[in-house]
Amino acid sequence: MSSSRPAWVDTQDASFPQFVLWCLGALGVEVQAEASGVYRLEVPLAGTGAEPAPPHPYAHLAGRRIRFAAGDAVGDGAVEQVALDSPLMHWLRGELAGPALPLQAVAARQPLTVHELTSQLFAPYVVEGGHAHLAGCTLEDRPFLRLSFIGGTSGASAPPLVHCFGATDGTLVSADLIDNLELHQLAVPSWRVPTLDRAVIEQWISVIRQRCAARAGADAGTLLAVTVVWCRYAEGKLTFSIGLKSVDVSFGGWARLLADGRVQPPPYTCPLTGLSSYRLTTTDDGRITVVEAIAVCAASGRRVLTQDLECCAVTGRHVLPAHLQTCPVSGQRALSSLFRMCPMCRQQVSPSGLEGDRCRACQRLSATTKADPRMARILGAFPKLDRWQRWKMAETQSAHILVGASFWHRVLLVVDKQTLDVLHVAGGTRWSGRWSEATAVQRDEWIG
Ligand SMILES: [Zn+2]
Repeated sequence: MSSSRPAWVDTQDASFPQFVLWCLGALGVEVQAEASGVYRLEVPLAGTGAEPAPPHPYAHLAGRRIRFAAGDAVGDGAVEQVALDSPLMHWLRGELAGPALPLQAVAARQPLTVHELTSQLFAPYVVEGGHAHLAGCTLEDRPFLRLSFIGGTSGASAPPLVHCFGATDGTLVSADLIDNLELHQLAVPSWRVPTLDRAVIEQWISVIRQRCAARAGADAGTLLAVTVVWCRYAEGKLTFSIGLKSVDVSFGGWARLLADGRVQPPPYTCPLTGLSSYRLTTTDDGRITVVEAIAVCAASGRRVLTQDLECCAVTGRHVLPAHLQTCPVSGQRALSSLFRMCPMCRQQVSPSGLEGDRCRACQRLSATTKADPRMARILGAFPKLDRWQRWKMAETQSAHILVGASFWHRVLLVVDKQTLDVLHVAGGTRWSGRWSEATAVQRDEWIG
């Protein structure tokens, strides 16, 4: 098609004569405007299609000059009034049903270059300490099918005109999408649009025509023109870089809607947290995430992921796990700085693990015998302990605490529950609550 051809614009409320003008323009017929809504054309000799047009009943009009009136202008003997049964319309309908079918059109207002999209693509994002760039974007022409029906009676100068739009999946296009893509504002393509296979087109027309008929009821009118309307669809990838790292967001959408900001590319979804946002930032160690996933460690002040932090059971402060310790007595995870040593067993315990002047385990020593499997295991490892007659025992999550007594003396032994490593040994008298850490000699004498 020639790019010098006028790009007739079809509007939603276009009158029938205006639609006729649009069809003539799309067929490549040169139409000269005279005054007061009167137009003039020479009917092409060989038809308008790429293939020779088969003779139709009004082929004899070829080569004839026709003056016709559109809009409010009134025809007379020399000027034809555009109507369904006027000679011009007979010729035009023959052309529209012939090899020229379907007409080709593009949405009149849509981006032609990626550059027209760029600023709107970046607009939703905030990248703290970094930048965004377009890693790739393609604009692809995607087709809709427009079926134009006319109703009314023969001789009517302005019969009702109904456009029906179909998508490639065989569904009818919603009124919202028609409005958003401005599919009622069409132009003749000024660039080469894709070529669709004839059989595919005819099957598509058949499907959409059935859908239109089902929607319109018994009579959708007479199919006058079929137009393939091309709209540009954008697909691409945005890359966000902060420091040495970068992440991508893929997007796709109608170029018109992306350029207008009516459709936004999706937010970034952080794979570390599953959170989505248009605000990107990094942790202190350089991991890119969304602002909503960031928290500050109350102990170190480091910016980390919320999920990296753990709550101190005593203070309720959220800190990195490295700042917490598990109390062997209470099982609580609490800030290491809060732990105190039990003066008896020398274990580090949290505030809730202390009771009075010692830990709750040491407060709850209970009598046991050598028959207790735990005692039997410990005596097996340390046979010298067998000299002590009476035993009391307690345990924490990590240690056994044993107190053995003879007539005069007492011994305190703290061993690791798993390994039986000796953690602490102390001695005392039966009438004193005080313990003294065992000397090397005493350790050797008591436990070997
Ligand atoms: Zn203790």
